[in-house]
Amino acid sequence: MLVNDITIVEISPCLADETKFKAITMTDNDLTDILPYMNTALENPNYQANSQSLVFKEGIVGFTLKGNQINITRFVNKTELLELLDWVKELVNAIDESKDSITPNYKSKTIVPTLTIYNMLPKTNCKECGESTCMAFAAKLNKFDAEIGDCPQLLKTENTALKEKLEKAFE
Ligand code: SF4
Repeated sequence: MLVNDITIVEISPCLADETKFKAITMTDNDLTDILPYMNTALENPNYQANSQSLVFKEGIVGFTLKGNQINITRFVNKTELLELLDWVKELVNAIDESKDSITPNYKSKTIVPTLTIYNMLPKTNCKECGESTCMAFAAKLNKFDAEIGDCPQLLKTENTALKEKLEKAFE
């Protein structure tokens, strides 16, 4: 098995949602080689060849895999985190065991420049996303450290056009 154990290193509150938590965890083996296979197998992942990292979502929960590290965001408590760790371990191992039938995809997802993202945000600096300014939030989106849905302003009807433009830019 590629992943036998996952150790929880740190749990802390999510900035964008104070009812949720994020965690840094470490696997017993390096995940780098499996990431291009996960890039093929998963629905709409963000694989970056330069940083050899992969980000994907399962429901509202976000996963970031890089080296031996798996970061998980937006879970409600430690019980859910332990379930998510079992789930992601099973997922990685299942893909690893099926590698012979999966064509790896080494293509990175397009990075959208921070200023381009900023120009598609509501620019209210309302801080509801947990960031002090829209530009700071744009920088996080650029690095895939946040998601479009983390800006509550974009969910308002008057901002539907901006949200659609952003979603298209990240396709
Ligand atoms: S919630 Fe949206 S509009 Fe408000 S500061 Fe964050 S990015 Fe800007």
